[in-house]
Amino acid sequence: MIIMMIKVPRINRYECAGCGLCTLSLPEVFRLTPEGISEVYGPTNAKPAAVQKVIDDCPVNCVHWFKANN
Ligand code: SF4
Repeated sequence: MIIMMIKVPRINRYECAGCGLCTLSLPEVFRLTPEGISEVYGPTNAKPAAVQKVIDDCPVNCVHWFKANN
């Protein structure tokens, strides 16, 4: 069995300001919950460079890479 490590975006829900910028930039990856904070629902639906831009643009720096097993 081969275990592959991939990196996926994660959001610190306690720091998210709910501005919606990430959901507008990559709606295939991020969405706002009824509570008004963002969540990752499609972690591999965009290229890493596009996710990195969202990470760089988040006004409160609450989006981070997380290494996960594939
Ligand atoms: S850009 Fe950052 S602060 Fe704004 S909704 Fe997304 S995760 Fe939250």
